[in-house]
Amino acid sequence: MHTAPIVTDSPAIYHECDYGVTPNPTDAREYDVVIVGGGVIGNVAACALGQAGLKVAIVEAEAQSLASDRGQAYSINLLSVQVFEDLGLWQRIRPQVETYRSVQLSDGDYRKVVQFSPQDLGRETIGYVAEHRILLEALQYGLNTLPNVDCICPATVIETVKKGDQTIVRLVQASAPAQTLSAKLVIAADGSRSPLRQAANITTYGWQYWQSCIVAFIQPEHPHKQTAYERFQPDGPFAILPLPNGLCRIVWTAPRAVADRMLTLNPDEFMAELRSRYGDHMGKLTLVGQPSVFPVRLLHSTRYVKPGLALIGDAAHCCHPVGGQGINLGIRDAAALVNVIEKALAQDKDFAALSVLKQYERWRMGENLMVLGLTDTLTRVFSNKIWPIVLIRRVSLWILQDISPIRSLVLRHMQGLTGKAPRIVGQNPKV
Ligand SMILES: Cc1cc2nc3c(=O)[nH]c(=O)nc-3n(C[C@H](O)[C@H](O)[C@H](O)COP(=O)(O)OP(=O)(O)OC[C@H]3O[C@@H](n4cnc5c(N)ncnc54)[C@H](O)[C@@H]3O)c2cc1C
Repeated sequence: MHTAPIVTDSPAIYHECDYGVTPNPTDAREYDVVIVGGGVIGNVAACALGQAGLKVAIVEAEAQSLASDRGQAYSINLLSVQVFEDLGLWQRIRPQVETYRSVQLSDGDYRKVVQFSPQDLGRETIGYVAEHRILLEALQYGLNTLPNVDCICPATVIETVKKGDQTIVRLVQASAPAQTLSAKLVIAADGSRSPLRQAANITTYGWQYWQSCIVAFIQPEHPHKQTAYERFQPDGPFAILPLPNGLCRIVWTAPRAVADRMLTLNPDEFMAELRSRYGDHMGKLTLVGQPSVFPVRLLHSTRYVKPGLALIGDAAHCCHPVGGQGINLGIRDAAALVNVIEKALAQDKDFAALSVLKQYERWRMGENLMVLGLTDTLTRVFSNKIWPIVLIRRVSLWILQDISPIRSLVLRHMQGLTGKAPRIVGQNPKV
C-alpha cells in the first residue's frame, strides 16, 4: 500500500492571542456562537443552535451560489434523516432526493453478490441520495426563518483571539472594512484543511491514499430501480448511487495516475473506460456534465475541543469515501454538539465550558474512529489481489448473503443505527 503522511499544506492564516492587530473587543458584534464554515455541517449546527434560541453567526467564504453548486451528491443514512426531521427540514428535502431500497455489494467479477434490502433493517428504505445543493438550500431556508441567526457570506475569517471567556473573530469581506465578532464558543466547520484547527495547534494524524476519487453524474438507459451498487475492484471501490429523474452518481476510486488521466479524456472516451470496468447492465450510459476528481485521505484530529472552540465534520476527521460515511459522521457531530449544549442550557450551566465540550468529544471520537478504521480496512482488504485475502473476503460475501442477522448488523452499522443517536430538542425554554 502506498501511503504517505499528510503534510499540513494549507498556510495557517489564523493566529491566536499574540499575533497581528489585536481587535478591540468593545467594537465586536456579540454572539453566543460563531460558526466558521457554511458547508452542510456548519449549516446543520447553525440551524439547530438557532432553533435552541442562541444568537448565532455563521461565516462562509464562498458566495452562496458557489457554495451550493458544488456538483456533489451524498448517500444520506437514516440517522442523518432523523436530524433533518428534528430540524423540521426533511419534508422540504424528501421530494427532491432519491431513496434506495437495495444495495448490491460485489467483489470484481465474482458471481456472489450480497443484496441488502430494507427488510434487513425492518424499515421501508435503506437510505437516500441527495445532491449537496438540495441539502444546502433547505438548510439556508431554515436559517432564513431564524431572526437570531446571521449568515455572513461571502466572508473569510482571518483571525481568532481568545480573551477571557470570549473569542474575538475577525473576518474580511470583499470591498468592505474588516469586521469583528465575539462569541463564547467558536465552532470550526471549515473543512478538512481547517485553518482554525491549525491555528489552535490541534494536531492530526492520517495519510493520503494512493487513490483519488472520480465523481460524475450519468444517465443510464435502463431505470436504476432505486438500487445502489458498490463493486470492489483491485484498483479501489466503485459505487453507483441512484438520484431522482433516473440520474445516477458514480463514485469511482482509482489510483491517482488513472484518475488524473480520466480527466483528460473526452466524454466518449471517459464512458468507454467506465463501461470497460463496469459493464453495461444498466444499458447505454451517458455522461451528464463534467466529471471531477478529489483526493482521498484519512485524517483524525487528536482532540475535538479546546476552551471556547469545537471542531465538527471534516475539520475533525475525514475518511475514505467507501460506504459514503463522511457527511453522515459530520451531521452526527453537529447534532451531538448541539445536544450537549442544549443539556447544559437546560441545567443553567455555561454551555461553552470545557467540561461541556468534552462531553461532545467523548461522545463522538470513539464512533468516528471506528468508522475511519472500518472504511480503511474495507478499502485495504478489497483493493488487492493477495490470494489468502481474496479467499477470506469471498467467504465473507457468502456469509453476508446467507446469514441475514449478520447482514442486518452490518447494514445497521453503515446506517448509523448502532451508535448513540443525537436528538435535537430545539426551542430551549431557558433562553
Ligand atoms: C469524492 C467524495 C465523495 C464523497 N461522497 C460522500 C458520500 O457519498 N456520502 C458522505 O456521507 N460523504 C461523502 N463525502 C464526504 C463529504 O463530502 C464530506 O464529509 C463533507 O462535505 C464535509 O462537510 P463539511 O461541512 O465538514 O466541510 P466542507 O464541505 O469542506 O465545508 C467547509 C466550508 O468551510 C468554508 N471555509 C473554510 N475556511 C473558511 C474561512 N476561513 N472562513 C469562512 N469559511 C471558510 C469553505 O468555504 C467550505 O464551504 C465524499 C467526499 C469526497 C471527497
